[in-house]
This record gives sequence, structure tokens and C-alpha cells, in this order.
Amino acid sequence: MSATSKESTPVVKDRRRRSLEDLRISVTDRCNFRCVYCMPKEVFGSQFQFLPRSELLTFDEITRLARIFVSLGVRKIRLTGGEPLVRRNLDTLVQDLAKIEGLEDLAMTTNGSLLTPNRAQSLKAAGLKRVTISLDAVDDALFQKMNDVDFSVEKVLSAVDAALDAGLRPVKINTVIKKGLNDSAILPMAAYFRGRDVTVRFIEFMDVGNTNGWRLEDVIPGDDVLRRIDHEWPLEAIAPTRPGEVATRYRYRDGQGEVGIIASVTRPFCQQCTRARLSPEGQLVTCLFGAQGDDLRSLVRGTASDEEIREHLSHLWANRDDHYSELRRSLTPGLPKIEMSHIGG
Ligand code: SAM
Ligand code: SF4
Ligand code: SF4
Repeated sequence: MSATSKESTPVVKDRRRRSLEDLRISVTDRCNFRCVYCMPKEVFGSQFQFLPRSELLTFDEITRLARIFVSLGVRKIRLTGGEPLVRRNLDTLVQDLAKIEGLEDLAMTTNGSLLTPNRAQSLKAAGLKRVTISLDAVDDALFQKMNDVDFSVEKVLSAVDAALDAGLRPVKINTVIKKGLNDSAILPMAAYFRGRDVTVRFIEFMDVGNTNGWRLEDVIPGDDVLRRIDHEWPLEAIAPTRPGEVATRYRYRDGQGEVGIIASVTRPFCQQCTRARLSPEGQLVTCLFGAQGDDLRSLVRGTASDEEIREHLSHLWANRDDHYSELRRSLTPGLPKIEMSHIGG
């Protein structure tokens, strides 16, 4: 482990000199959508075995681990899933996490289906700072084809308004583009959210997990998405809000806001990857494309002290060498990987 002093928090760096700054907590592997690029129905059907409740980390266990992560330099936590809002009493977890001293940002990625105005307000009151809502089309028929559970787009658009009204800002939208499926959504998505104080981030379709039938031919490079939008509404590049930001940012020259491009396949950003990921059952995963994680649940359910867990995490991070996206093209296809709906992006 290499540790240096940055203000009062020791900074642990991995083998590629990347510090540990963000933690993504997946609170459930269940979801009420079956997005075709994430949880295809043929795999995640009625026979699929989701984790039993007893295997999920409890809110107390999650909060304890989160506190230890913050003591190691984490400043930003994002709740994700599966769909985080299907986990019961999530406000309680938000409340507990928001109290952690030293934590600067607490966000959530959600499909928005359960984000009613009341829910948005109660999450805000509990201490959630902001939300990212995933939405892959504004056309209702296309959106229903994407979520594959006949969920209407109106409800998600209302969730965006609910988030804005509740002050869960800045509100961002994640839009995954898959060639031949929803590339027709690029311009309508940009058109709808321009001037609405909401940033759409277009994400390249990724080869996460082993069930979504990913092929490189189905990826529309972020640069193409950018060109299409720029042709319609000229854009200019702007600086990242913070070092290591995964989205490249562009501003509409006519002042109607901005868009982001997350080109994880064509422009890997492994060198800036400062994220650790905690799965619902307490596995620590240091790369989105990992095959398995390190079992933290047995530590939190055993006799290990906070200091022992801290040492363990510090050691794990210091030995991290992940850079899958930089290697993608040279790797054997079909390597076992954790599903996106399990670890949460
Ligand atoms: N259910 C929540 C949601 O959809 O916002 C949170 C979990 S979801 C796995 C997190 C993010 O991963 C979403 O924005 C989703 O669009 C994105 N995602 C899922 N599968 C993907 C894939 N194959 N390539 C790129 N992004 C993907
Ligand atoms: Fe569910 Fe999110 Fe995956 Fe869609 S992307 S199936 S909403 S976990
Ligand atoms: Fe981080 Fe792994 Fe993605 Fe590279 S491939 S950016 S190391 S999660």
C-alpha cells in the first residue's frame, strides 16, 4: 500500500496511482424494468433467482462500510442497483449515509419509475443531494420497447420534473444508445431536454455482464452522437467539473444548456477511474468488468474491527490494477463478468 497525506485524510493509491474517491453502492439486484441492453427478459424471467433478503447487506452494514470508505478518502457516494427505489425504506439508508462526516456528495441513479413528487421530496429531506435518471427515448413506443415492461415515458418525464422541483439538482439523464435500436432517439432526447436545466449524457453501449448480447458493431461511437447533435445545435467543449469526470461536456452555443458524452468503449478513461463498487450482498468490486468481488459481508458479519476492515480495504485498493476498457480489444470474448443490474454501473 502507498499512502500519502492529503489534508487530514490519508490517500490510498492503487498500482496505477489512482486514488479511491467514489463509492457506488448497489442496494438490490432486483428491478421493475427489463431494459433490453441490461436485463433481457429471456435471462431475467420468472425463473431467475434474485438474492434472498438475508444475503443483502443491511442498512447498518452498508453505513458502517461507507463510513470506513470515507475514512479512506471517498467523498462521493452513489446509490444504484438494480433499481434502488425498489428497496424498502431506502430513505432510512439515505438519512444514515448523509450523516457521515467528510462525505461531500450523495447521489442516486434510478430509472425514475417510482420517483413521485412525494418520494423526491422525502429523499431530499433525508439528505440525498441529486439524482441521475436513466431514460433511453422520449418517444413512448420506443421507450416501452427499451424497458420491455410497457412502462410509459410520461411517468419518467414527470419524475424528472419531480426531481427538479424537489431540488435534487443538478438532474442528469443517462441515455444508452444501441445501434439499430434507439439511435433515432438521439436528436429527440437532445431537443426535449435543451433549455430545461437538465443535462443528457449519451452513453456508449457497453459489454458489461454476459447476457446482453453485446457486439462492437452495435456501439455508436460518442463522437458520432456528438456530430449529430452539433449539426443540429452547434456545441462547444467545456472543462470537466472535476478531474476524472467520465463524461466529456459540451455546451450549446445558443445557451440552452449542455450535453455529456460517456465514450467508455471508444475512449476508455481507466486512468481516471477512482471508483469502488459495493454489490448488494457485500462484494467489493474494483472494476465494472470484474468477474467477482471481495467478500466484505463476512468481515462485517464477523468479528473484524473497523480498523481491521479499513486495513483490508486499503490493501485491496493498493493492489488494484484494473484497466479493462484499455485492454478490451485484446481480450478473449466471453470472459465471465458481473451483470450491470447486479453492480449498478
Ligand atoms: N436501475 C437504475 C437505472 O437504470 O438508472 C440504476 C442501475 S442501472 C444498471 C445504471 C446505469 O447503467 C443506467 O443508466 C443504465 O442505462 C446503464 N447501463 C445498463 N446497462 C448498460 C450497458 N450495457 N451499457 C451502458 N450502460 C448501461
Ligand atoms: Fe433496471 Fe436500470 Fe438495468 Fe434498466 S438499466 S434493467 S432500469 S437496472
Ligand atoms: Fe474503471 Fe474498469 Fe471501467 Fe476502466 S474498465 S474505467 S478500470 S471500471
